[in-house]
Amino acid sequence: MAPPACPGAPDAPASETPDRAPVLRAGSTLRQQRALVTGANSGIGRAVALELARAGCDVVINYISDEPAAQSLVDQIAGLGRRAIAIKADVSQEDQVISMFARAAETLGPLHIVVSNAGLQRDAPFEQMSLADWNTVLSVNLTGQFLCLREDVRAFTRRGVNPAISAAAGKIICMSSVHQEIPWAGHANYAASKGGVAMLMRSLAQEMAPRRIRVNAIAPGAIRTPINTSAWETPEAYDDLMRLVPYKRIGEPADIGRAAVWLASDAADYVTGATLYVDGGMTLYPGFATGG
Ligand code: NAD
Repeated sequence: MAPPACPGAPDAPASETPDRAPVLRAGSTLRQQRALVTGANSGIGRAVALELARAGCDVVINYISDEPAAQSLVDQIAGLGRRAIAIKADVSQEDQVISMFARAAETLGPLHIVVSNAGLQRDAPFEQMSLADWNTVLSVNLTGQFLCLREDVRAFTRRGVNPAISAAAGKIICMSSVHQEIPWAGHANYAASKGGVAMLMRSLAQEMAPRRIRVNAIAPGAIRTPINTSAWETPEAYDDLMRLVPYKRIGEPADIGRAAVWLASDAADYVTGATLYVDGGMTLYPGFATGG
């Protein structure tokens, strides 16, 4: 068994890239691995960070506001017996992203998993949408992913595969949305950003597969978080939302966290360039269930 990872220590030197499927080990799925989650002090990012920690990861919690929420998550992860640090950085700013990844590697050690989750909405009818609203959404939801993914790729390529830790050199998960597929009136900037994430993810997956860097996306449906409170906070809004969800319940952040653990694990070693829809069937055209 490989020795436990030390703070700041690189993994053991990479060995030859295996040409067989990995043999899965018992116990914590992601033990000895280190993950960074952007926008991790709230909603889906928070649940992803917690589930990764429960699966054995040490975790870097990225946040841009609400430092107490980030710190409380650090404490919660420490309570699970894993290490965690919170790093403030705006994912749309190149210098802040570069220094966040450098600090993460110095403090916890080289990363194995990055979940590029930070995102926001600035909704408006199209003719009233300002350039500022357009640019803010594209800068965070798409350019922010580009900047984070570029740092991941640089770091994962430097290290290469260490089969004692994982069959892949690194695992990238982009948080997309069902709106990479479903058009969304009044949210053209958001839908365009997530459509962009889909092709960024697939192009990068194609480019990185020979380096054994797996790149995938999760496309959540309606998940109970602060980004969409108005869609579920009253019984009327909830009932209205259920017209769009064949599974007839709203998604919880932990639904996404558990999907992220699987995608990051060697159980998903042959999965790259895929979008995993975690949406209770929202992309199944529910309007056609009774006719069409
Ligand atoms: P949320 O508002 O709870 O979380 C978003 C997080 O991103 C927050 O922590 C926020 O501070 C952070 N963030 C925003 N701008 C940032 C920046 N410039 N730099 C760093 N962090 C920044 O909402 P959520 O629902 O948890 O959203 C998380 C992701 O899931 C987003 O990418 C969102 O598009 C996606 N998503 C959510 C749903 C849903 O139903 N909740 C559905 C589909 C996709």
